[in-house]
Order: sequence, then C-alpha cells, then structure tokens
Amino acid sequence: MRMRIGFGYDSHRFEKGRRLVLGGVEFPGEDGLAGHSDADVLTHAVIDALLGAAALGDIGSHFPDTDERWKGADSVAMLASVVKEVRAAGYAVGNVDATVVCERPKIGSAVDIVRQRLATAMGVGKGRVSVKGKTNEGMDDVGARVGIVVHCVALLEELRGR
Ligand code: MG
Repeated sequence: MRMRIGFGYDSHRFEKGRRLVLGGVEFPGEDGLAGHSDADVLTHAVIDALLGAAALGDIGSHFPDTDERWKGADSVAMLASVVKEVRAAGYAVGNVDATVVCERPKIGSAVDIVRQRLATAMGVGKGRVSVKGKTNEGMDDVGARVGIVVHCVALLEELRGR
C-alpha cells in the first residue's frame, strides 16, 4: 500500500473572554484562544497535517482569515471538508497523532472525547486518532501560559485503483 506522511503545526495565544475549543470539544472555565475562527488549535494542526500529506496546500489557503465566511467558524466542520478533498484526491486517512503542548488545561481526562470527535469528523474509527497532552515544563512562552502549541503527524493511504 502506498502511504504519504504529513506534518501540521499550529499555535494560538490565550485571549480572555473567549471559549476554549480543542478538537471540537469545549473546555468550560478555561481561557479561550485568540483567532478568526473558533481558534481550535488542535483541529487546525490536524487539518495542516492532512493537507500536507496530500500536498494540497495549507489551512490558510483553504480558509483565509481575511474571509468573513470563516469568522467564528467551526473548525471541525473545516476538518470534515478537508477530509472530503483529501478523499477526492485519492487518499484515505490512515492515522493521525497529535501532541497538545500547554501548561493549562490538563486535557488528559477529555482525551477520549476529543479523539472521538475528531475521528467522527474524519469518518474513521477512534483507533486511528491519537491525542496526547503535555506541558512545556514551564519553559518559554508556552510554559509562561501565553498560548497553546500543537504538533501533529498524519498518514494517508492511497486508495486502490488510482
Ligand atoms: Mg490556527
């Protein structure tokens, strides 16, 4: 089977008064992130990993932050639309592995719900989606709670007969 790998990275600053959404799941009582859409930094990194694996550009070229259409947009809906494009290009999602780096919140207890939400958006089983949380051990701006950073890799499988 032919496979392709992609890497995605995203970062957003905290902004008071906004809700925090990670992988389509809201974290009540936590500071939210600044951004044009719902600022779902995790879903954005997943989108970029998938687009990268298919060599279909990046999230900015698909959903420009100058476009009013994407203001406050649901990033999980953006992910579902990207997966459609990836499939149209001849690939199926193999697996996705993301690492969320922040001092707060601790996402451990929500990881299963987040994995399920992302898996549903991508039309794959939860077993193909991994989400891991870790702190930056107090180092640098992420350690100083300025924002959240996410790294993600994705593997695509070439659909047969293409
Ligand atoms: Mg982003």
